[in-house]
Amino acid sequence: MNAVTFHGAGDFRYSSVDPPNLQDSQDVLVQVKEAAICGSDLHLYRGHIPGIMPGTVVGHEFTGIVVEVGSGVRQFRSGDRVVGTFHVACGICLACRRGDYHQCAQGGVLGYGMAFGNLGGSQAEFVRIPWGDVNLRKIPDGLSDEKAIFCGDILTTAFGAVKNARVTPGETVAVIGAGPVGQMAVMSALVMGAAKVLVIDLIPDRLAMAETLGARAINSSTSNPVRRVFQETAGDGADVVIEAVGGSTTLELAFQLVRGGGRISAIGVTAESELKFPLMTALTRDLTFRIGLANIHRDIDHTLALVANGRVDPTVVVSHRLPLSQASHGYQLFDQRQATKVLLIP
Ligand code: NAD
Ligand code: ZN
Repeated sequence: MNAVTFHGAGDFRYSSVDPPNLQDSQDVLVQVKEAAICGSDLHLYRGHIPGIMPGTVVGHEFTGIVVEVGSGVRQFRSGDRVVGTFHVACGICLACRRGDYHQCAQGGVLGYGMAFGNLGGSQAEFVRIPWGDVNLRKIPDGLSDEKAIFCGDILTTAFGAVKNARVTPGETVAVIGAGPVGQMAVMSALVMGAAKVLVIDLIPDRLAMAETLGARAINSSTSNPVRRVFQETAGDGADVVIEAVGGSTTLELAFQLVRGGGRISAIGVTAESELKFPLMTALTRDLTFRIGLANIHRDIDHTLALVANGRVDPTVVVSHRLPLSQASHGYQLFDQRQATKVLLIP
């Protein structure tokens, strides 16, 4: 089959590889209909994620059609339209039984290398999904693949981050980063009742997109985001800050934007190992800080319902639909910020 494979920083190729097979009775084989490029794939593309071997099939956002199921699979059969979760979980270990699927002892992230379970990715004609009953959802009738694909990662990631921050109706939410994940955080904050959503980025087009969704844009290359957020909140600071970039610079900014007693919820991925934690500030201002990978399994049924009922339309971020064979061009466009979200069609 044809797939997108990793060969080093900036070197992702469309190549011919052995197709995946069922390896376990719980496996499901999916023919991929749509695969998206994620900001997390950019970390691989930029060479920031260690432990991925040349030739690995990349990608973790996808929809498709079930073509084969293992003998132990109960929920799916050939022909089902499905969306997959970007991280896979076994469903039965202690972490999964607690509901912490993203902490599964045996799980991993599709197409993200050795440190993440060494699983084949979904930017391919076919993908093997371990524990298919746990890691796939049927796409509701009438819901397009193009809408459903966002529930397997970025919409649900952002929704979960906003939920973790316990946003209540009437609050002000500041979102750092207006990439696709930041845009999903804007939509999620509004659907959970935020009165005002402020979004901070450096790219005018992305800020303009967030404005069309109902946010107020702050361009941090032309204005001071701290001053602007305090102006917008009568000198108080944001009730909640969602960090959707990754790394210490924007995490430090989050601590400057939040009000006393407020909550920071960070989802940006980074390979940095340390943050100079503002201990005294966090102590005296009574701040809540949380960071983590998304727990897609916890929230995906709710985001599918929001999208299926027209309450959220994540497709606003899609700027490019390319054949899978043009994936390396898609990566270049996304890396250079000339694309907001690229869908790849095998
Ligand atoms: P992206 O790279 O398209 O977007 C990042 C945005 O941040 C860009 O618009 C960029 O201009 C902006 N930015 C960069 N530096 C900034 C700064 N100093 N101040 C303000 N804005 C700045 O990526 P994306 O797809 O939107 O993903 C965002 C992050 O979320 C990535 O790190 C991705 O890996 C991560 N992510 C995490 C999870 C999870 O489970 N936690 C899941 C999906 C994605
Ligand atoms: Zn992703």
